[in-house]
Amino acid sequence: MENQIAGIHHVTAIVEDPQQNIDFYAGVLGLRLVKQTVNFDDPHTYHLYFGDELGQPGTILTFFPWPGARHGSRGTGQVSAIALAIPTSSVDYWQQRLTSYGFIVSEPTSRFGENSLSVYDPSGLLLELAAQPETSEQHIWESGFVPSDHAIRGISGVTLTIAQHEPTATLLTETMGFRKVGEAGRYVRYAVADSGPGKHIDVVSRPEVPEGLVAAGTVHHIAWRTPNDTEQHAWRETLIRQGYEVTPVRDRQYFRSIYFREPGGVLFEIATDEPGFAVNEPPDQLGTHLMLPPWLEQRRPQLEQTLPPITLPVTKD
Ligand code: ZN
Repeated sequence: MENQIAGIHHVTAIVEDPQQNIDFYAGVLGLRLVKQTVNFDDPHTYHLYFGDELGQPGTILTFFPWPGARHGSRGTGQVSAIALAIPTSSVDYWQQRLTSYGFIVSEPTSRFGENSLSVYDPSGLLLELAAQPETSEQHIWESGFVPSDHAIRGISGVTLTIAQHEPTATLLTETMGFRKVGEAGRYVRYAVADSGPGKHIDVVSRPEVPEGLVAAGTVHHIAWRTPNDTEQHAWRETLIRQGYEVTPVRDRQYFRSIYFREPGGVLFEIATDEPGFAVNEPPDQLGTHLMLPPWLEQRRPQLEQTLPPITLPVTKD
C-alpha cells in the first residue's frame, strides 16, 4: 500500500430549503455556518458549509439546498446515514434537545460499543448522534445554542449501503488503507489511520434492496482527506491505474477535489486539506457573507438577486 486516506473530509447532502437547513444545522445542532457560497456547477443555488469553529476537515457537512427538489429514496449505492460525534455524557441532552424541537428521536441503540441516537433532519436525511470518547484537537464552536460540553465534535463516521460487499471492501482495504475492525449483524466496520472520529465507515450489504435515488434528503457524496495536491495527484494516478474513471482536479476554492464512483455506486471524492475556509474570510467572520469564487464574482449582482434571501443564525452570548 503506497498511500492511506487520512479520514473523512466532508459529507455533502441534498436538502430542500436553505433557511430550514441553516436553522437546523446551526440553530438546533449548534454547528458553525463556515461558508455561504453557491454551487459552482449550478450558481443559482446555494452551497452551505457547516463545521466546527474553523471548518476543519472531518467536521464539515455541506448542503445543496434545492427548494422544491423531489425527494430521494434510501437504498443501495448510497451513504445511508451520517453519524456525528457527541460526548459520551451527552446522549440524554441530545435526546431531550431534539425532542423539544419536535423531532422524533430513537431510543439510544448500541453499535460497536457506541451509544447512538437516530433522527431525520427537516429534509428527511438520516443522522445518527454517536457517543464517542473525547479527543484532543477540538475547535468547538461556542455557538451559544449548545453548551460546549455537549457540542457536536465532528463527523464520527458514515454508513454505506451497497448491494455487494466484496468489491467495495477491496477498494477500502487494498487501495485506500482501511482495515476491518469489527462486524455487528449486517454492519462491517472499517477504520483508517488512528481510528477515532471521522476515521471509520460502516458497510452494510443489502442485495435485496433496490438502488436508492439521490435527491432531496439523501447524501450526494462523501469526501476523503488528503493533505495536499501532490498526494491527491498520486491518488488520481493509482485509481486510474486500477481502472476507475476519475475526474480531473476541480478547484473548489476551499479545497481541490477529484471524484470517482466506488464499485457499489457511491460517489467518492478525495479533497485536499489545503487551503481551508479562511482563504477568503477572516476566521472570526466565516460564513457571514456570500462568498463567490473569482470566476463568478462578476455575476454577483445577478446571483444576489436570484438566490433566496437567508437569515443567519444569531449567536447568543
Ligand atoms: Zn464534496
